[in-house]
Amino acid sequence: MVTEKMYDKLAELVVKKGVNVQKDQPVIINASVRDVAFVRKVVKNAYEAGAKYVSVEWRDSDIAKMGYQYMSNETLSEIPQWQYDKRKYQQDGGACYLSIASDKPGSMADVDGEKMRIANMAFYAKMGDLMSYTMNNEGQWCVFGIPSLEWAKVVFPDLSDEEAFEKLGDAIFEVTRVTEDNDPIKEWEKHDKELLEHARKMNEYDFKELHFTSELGTDLTAGLVDGHIWVAGGSVTPKGVFFDPNMPTEECFSMPLKTGVNGIVYASKPLSYNGKVIEDFWLRFENGKVVDFDAKKEKESLKRLLEFDEGSSYLGEVALVPYDSPISKSGILFFNTLYDENAACHLALGRPYPENIKGGEQMSKEELAEHGANDSMQHEDFMFGTKEMDIDGIRKDGTVVPVFRKGNFVF
Ligand code: ZN
Ligand code: ZN
Repeated sequence: MVTEKMYDKLAELVVKKGVNVQKDQPVIINASVRDVAFVRKVVKNAYEAGAKYVSVEWRDSDIAKMGYQYMSNETLSEIPQWQYDKRKYQQDGGACYLSIASDKPGSMADVDGEKMRIANMAFYAKMGDLMSYTMNNEGQWCVFGIPSLEWAKVVFPDLSDEEAFEKLGDAIFEVTRVTEDNDPIKEWEKHDKELLEHARKMNEYDFKELHFTSELGTDLTAGLVDGHIWVAGGSVTPKGVFFDPNMPTEECFSMPLKTGVNGIVYASKPLSYNGKVIEDFWLRFENGKVVDFDAKKEKESLKRLLEFDEGSSYLGEVALVPYDSPISKSGILFFNTLYDENAACHLALGRPYPENIKGGEQMSKEELAEHGANDSMQHEDFMFGTKEMDIDGIRKDGTVVPVFRKGNFVF
């Protein structure tokens, strides 16, 4: 059972270790109105850590949904200048960003997908250049979750409200490494170190490409960009501030070569995209691009994602997650990418992380493209790792090195 003390510890953990708030740094929190009691704890911790100011940006999925239902397409595509200026002001002041997930998965399921696409396109067109602040780790950011009843009922539809909420809470706190009597900050320091060790080995091998096979039928070769870097267990800002962008995190990830992906990949878990849940799907790649696909559920949403822009049908991330990771072991499908992506090897359609290539955070878009990186306004992870997944690494001299056998790292 999750106690008040555990919520206190979580609030301290995400402030001190998650974003690692620095003295006189602005802190921006994105949270649902349902979580106000917990948000107060986070705000207090942020001030105690020396925050200059803390600003909470509240959201409510029901109200957001009404916006899509009632606003005209014209209004939905008007992103006011003040919204841009506000975010720019925060970033110019060196803010860090905390985002608290707790919404019901699939909350936008019955919203017209075309309206959402129009609103999204307008948002990225206006705000797109401000996204690099977090994508390039110019400032610290951290995404984590807390349980809500709405979410719990999707994950455990057969349990009573009380049991479902308790079970989701237990799972979230366990995988976030917060217990009644541990020191979560120490736990995370240890965990980051272990993850880094896998990344160090992958970097040493400097593979040309990876070959994935699974019992679902996946047979995919993913080339890696020259000078790629495997990143795991935290990131560092240009000022040298270490932070953990995802809590939980179990992944070791790098940058695929945009045009170097070939073969077929079968998803091993549903993908929650724009409040819709895409199930049982596969993608076929040729020279990096998805040339064919199918899904048993929400094929239209998958199509919309792939056709969002030029780069959303190419890969931007390849991530290795052992099948024995705690999230995978829990056997729970959270219907939330933050958790589910850390249960299984995954790929992302769309934009890559510049930190995954040497000097990438200093490169322009054009330079990144010259190095074989994809570009897109989207970044959508989907899971394809399984219990039987094998991965071979192929080195530049053609040597084949086993990386995964039966879902786990060999080394
Ligand atoms: Zn990832
Ligand atoms: Zn990702």
